[in-house]
Amino acid sequence: MIFLDAAATTPVRREALEAMWPFLTGEFGNPSSHHTLGEAAANGLASARASVAKVLRCRPGDVTFTSGGTEADNLAVKGLALARRAQDPSLDRVLISAIEHPAVEESARYLERVHGFVVDVVPVDGYGVVTPDAFRAALRPTTAVASIMYANNEVGTVQPVAELARVAHSLGVPFHTDAVQAAGWLPLDVESLGVDAMSISGHKIGAPKGSGVLYARGRQKLEPLVHGGGQERGRRSGTENVAGAVALSTALTLAHAEQATLHSRVSGLRDEFIRRVLSEVPGAILTGHPELRLPSVASFCFPGTSGESVLLELERLGVVCSSGSACAAGSDAPSPVLLALGIDPAVAQTAVRFSFNSTVTEAELSQAATAVYEAVGLVQGLGRR
Ligand code: PLP
Repeated sequence: MIFLDAAATTPVRREALEAMWPFLTGEFGNPSSHHTLGEAAANGLASARASVAKVLRCRPGDVTFTSGGTEADNLAVKGLALARRAQDPSLDRVLISAIEHPAVEESARYLERVHGFVVDVVPVDGYGVVTPDAFRAALRPTTAVASIMYANNEVGTVQPVAELARVAHSLGVPFHTDAVQAAGWLPLDVESLGVDAMSISGHKIGAPKGSGVLYARGRQKLEPLVHGGGQERGRRSGTENVAGAVALSTALTLAHAEQATLHSRVSGLRDEFIRRVLSEVPGAILTGHPELRLPSVASFCFPGTSGESVLLELERLGVVCSSGSACAAGSDAPSPVLLALGIDPAVAQTAVRFSFNSTVTEAELSQAATAVYEAVGLVQGLGRR
């Protein structure tokens, strides 16, 4: 089986598994306990936090461990908006893009529904890019927080995050970015990016599901969403997932060390895969930006098919991928991301996303390109072999 659905999840890396193992067995203590077992766990957590901070180039105290990308996004969007409005009641707007992951979009909608915020949605261009001009036009002096993803999970388009953060700051608005798909592929240095908050998920980079990080600059006040014993400097109560944090920090450190090499190797493989699909599969359309995209994502529409049928044929041919985001799987509705790019709903129904793990090989993608040609042909009823 060729697994081309790494944007949905990745297997746990051996190094991450080995690093977390002691904290699930011998050093199983609660980091809040005042005995040696507790101290060992607290030390493990502290060193995981320091490793994450080293990669992000921030202070360890700015790193909050969460249960994943979704919780990090919720804490950033709701936590920043609610804390800022508590300080200044005129701050009653939230700005997001038209292609955010539901973890950001639904957090903004919650603020609208329950707390009376106004949600402003900045449109994207046909490649899925939030232009600094469109972003500037959507910002208001009363925007409490702006949240624009670093890279899109369905089409792979990468946003000009540093520029957008600068625009937000020119109006004094804190800027959050969902870097769940960017992690492992793009630089995560929060100083160069200039972001105030950033979300990362463990299971997209070789750590277990249920681990995540929110970076939030120390001076940013964050209203916590989970109340209790005041762990994570009061930002996220609950006994910490020490093993998950250790695994995440290990996977993130490895990904950081490999990032530049991986970026150039996998971008080359991606470009060749895209070239073959576009030249061999009649009518194939690339979605997202042709260059400003993640090395790990190649996404297409195959007019005259249905994405789900192409997926089934591909799986029969040994290639596993996705018709959209994993969260939208099983739903017949065309992807809101593709609609926001201006793609016709009937064409959007034919979307297929191929996303690569760091271990992807040229041979796998060559075999996959041939399978795509066959699968699309079969679904279009041409019966090509
Ligand atoms: N944000 C983006 C862009 C994602 O792709 C995902 C997962 O697919 C998430 C957030 C949610 O992360 P998690 O699965 O860790 O909750």
